[in-house]
Amino acid sequence: MHPTKAYAAPAAALPLGPFEIQRRAVGPHDVLIEIAYCGVCHSDVHQVRDEWGGSLFPMVPGHEIVGRVAQVGAHVKGFKPGDLAGVGCMVDSCRTCPSCARDLEQFCQKGAAFTYNGTEMDRVTRTYGGYSSRVVVDEAFALHLSPKLDLAATAPLLCAGITTYSPLRHWHTKPGDQVGVVGLGGLGHMAVKLAAAMGAEVTMLSTSAGKEADARRLGAAGFGLTSDEATFKRLAGRFDLIIDTISAPHDYNKYLGMVRLEGAMVLLGVPPAPTPIAAGSLIFGRKTLSGSLIGGIKETQEMLDFCAEHNVVSDIELIPVSGVNEAYVRMVKGDVRYRFVLDIKTL
Ligand code: NAP
Ligand code: ZN
Ligand code: ZN
Repeated sequence: MHPTKAYAAPAAALPLGPFEIQRRAVGPHDVLIEIAYCGVCHSDVHQVRDEWGGSLFPMVPGHEIVGRVAQVGAHVKGFKPGDLAGVGCMVDSCRTCPSCARDLEQFCQKGAAFTYNGTEMDRVTRTYGGYSSRVVVDEAFALHLSPKLDLAATAPLLCAGITTYSPLRHWHTKPGDQVGVVGLGGLGHMAVKLAAAMGAEVTMLSTSAGKEADARRLGAAGFGLTSDEATFKRLAGRFDLIIDTISAPHDYNKYLGMVRLEGAMVLLGVPPAPTPIAAGSLIFGRKTLSGSLIGGIKETQEMLDFCAEHNVVSDIELIPVSGVNEAYVRMVKGDVRYRFVLDIKTL
């Protein structure tokens, strides 16, 4: 066992603070990664605050993990000590069900082992995330990172990157497509960068007028202020695909009005409360309303390779681990440009 420094939420209403966890001894297929940086995802906030229900405490959040391999098991083939490595939202799955057979481990029919706020596949051993100094993971769930990219700015690719890359690929985004991105936060800014890198014409749809210049710098060709009703009229029927990343309840019907005939809107944000959908929002225009959950391990590696090729990383604000409670407050206010990343050496 490896005693490991961490930062944990002791219970739903309490701030995070120092905590010690035990990482398992390195098994034959495991790699031990010394964590350098970990991104702060809005899902960390939802789960620490138990907004989705069923949260497990104490909780060590963090699923945007990057670092260097320090030790490998006897049968590990893909990594050696000193290699860069990343871990995203999953650390294991059953590997045999039809979903796993299709490289869609996030939809494992037995339930994937999520990186934190869950258990290993034994359903007993608790998982703890990347707000910690090291992690031990089966090499099948470790990702290769390019040394060409800034390491701290690579961390958010492990969740925000794959979560936006996967639906863009699933809906066959291609040069010239009209893509609308809703909500300019961690996921939203990656969606803008990735859709632009795929050749789409991107429009940022935001509640924050002050983010327009940033949206254009990130690759958006257009901007629509969603607190202004005129925006919904101006852009009616415009988009082949809308990627919705808003973390709070909002009226999906209004956004569906901006989808073109037979276009699609994909929900990525997970607001704690449901919102009604009018059948007419879909019927008129034969539109699709869809959702998407992170991405499989194979596709995550494909996304990381795509980012290395197109020089895409996250725009980050690097903070000490002790700054995470304040970062949560700022994130909920939409005041993040555009991903907080914890510098794990400050732990
Ligand atoms: P984030 O950085 O906080 O960004 C969310 C953005 O949504 C904000 O910056 C803001 O953008 C907009 N927004 C926030 N509150 C709003 C409100 N009340 N009304 C309208 N717009 C609002 O969060 P994130 O890390 O990108 O995560 C976004 C959501 O995706 C969360 O719910 C998270 O749990 C979920 N998520 C899902 C997956 C998945 O696999 N599906 C993976 C990761 C995260 P503007 O200022 O531009 O309006
Ligand atoms: Zn996440
Ligand atoms: Zn499975």
